[in-house]
Amino acid sequence: MSLHIHTKLVHPETAGLQHKPTVTPIYLSSTFDQDSATAFGDFDYSRSGNPTRQVLELQLAELEGAKKAFAFASGVAAIAAVTRFLKPGDEILASNDLYGGTQRIFSTILPDRGVDVRYCNASNADRFLAAASLETKLVYFEPVGNPMLTIYDVRAIADAARRRGILTAVDNTLLTPLNLRPLDLGIDIVIHSATKYIGGHSDVTAGVVAVNRDDLAEHLYRTQNGEGCALAPFDAYQLERGLRTLALRLERQQDNARRIAEFLAGRSELRKVRYPTLPTHPGKDTLCQQSVSKHAGGGAVVCFETGSVDTSRRIVEALKLFAIRVSFGTVSSSASLPFYMSHASVPEKERERHALPRDLVRLSIGIEHIDDLIADLDQALRAVDVGEAGARVPREIEIKPATVAMEPHVVVSPVQSAFEVAS
Ligand code: PLP
Repeated sequence: MSLHIHTKLVHPETAGLQHKPTVTPIYLSSTFDQDSATAFGDFDYSRSGNPTRQVLELQLAELEGAKKAFAFASGVAAIAAVTRFLKPGDEILASNDLYGGTQRIFSTILPDRGVDVRYCNASNADRFLAAASLETKLVYFEPVGNPMLTIYDVRAIADAARRRGILTAVDNTLLTPLNLRPLDLGIDIVIHSATKYIGGHSDVTAGVVAVNRDDLAEHLYRTQNGEGCALAPFDAYQLERGLRTLALRLERQQDNARRIAEFLAGRSELRKVRYPTLPTHPGKDTLCQQSVSKHAGGGAVVCFETGSVDTSRRIVEALKLFAIRVSFGTVSSSASLPFYMSHASVPEKERERHALPRDLVRLSIGIEHIDDLIADLDQALRAVDVGEAGARVPREIEIKPATVAMEPHVVVSPVQSAFEVAS
């Protein structure tokens, strides 16, 4: 029987496991005893393979329409594993609008390995690929860029790169595979920070890489096993549990996000509201054509500018329900100033080059009741009197990156499993 992905997500491949458990068991065992000294069973050592991680990886492959998926200790570990394809002298051609931690790998780690990164505007696939050199071995972008929500033509970039024999990798964290399946559009490698929507509860840090080609899968397995960056069994369990409610969570989060974007777009005192399915958002039709269905949605991140860093900061701080928090994708809503928070690690000159506005507010929308979220935004906008401030010429104020200024505030209450601290 051919099943929808929503159904498959709550029916993981646990049938082969002893006792037919409804919930995937956590195999904490680092080693597995063997019947023979020369012929091993399915598992021998958890770094190389673990039954809990295997259930998760099979589910992740289903979700992406991939032959193989690999779970890593974080999104950044997944990105780093993909860069292991590159050799000294190779180059990456990357879009401008990338997550700050990715830019940090590209600008502070890869140069020591002799790998250079060239950033270019990827809005036009042919012009983007025209910037490739003979050394370019990887094209890297986010289908919807974080945090500017720039929409790229995934199929056109995949085709243009393939014509030049260059591998393509995308980080699809912001949209999830329920909206967009890059492998179906011709991309070679898809990456996720599963810390976001796939986990969905701010209680696990994880990354995913999915591929359709056997040679890429072999390479990734070599890195996962050889460098020991695989997801631990308990975290694999948490992630697989999160996956079961992904479709439900996302549906609610996206519906809330769309309604919040419409609410904010109606506030004339705000400078610019960004949300992928707003009629005014550039590339909206491209996203719609490439999404898995017409109703797929635009994710659950909404951004806006006010024209003043001070005003943006005061709005974020006036919010009562929205926490001030890095990251996105979890069930409770949050707000941040990416320039000073998630993208603070990007070297200053690159942030300027990528034209990341200092006053950009990024909202991550959760599953709360929409009326409560809108009421909170409304009171914050009133409290700050944006009407007056928004008309002002942007002015710079001194804000220290939150990474230095804040005490850790744990997002998930009991046990020390909460990873997501605002520090
Ligand atoms: N990719 C994107 C788009 C992200 O936003 C992040 C983290 O915020 C990452 C990758 C890195 O993931 P992780 O924090 O799980 O290492």
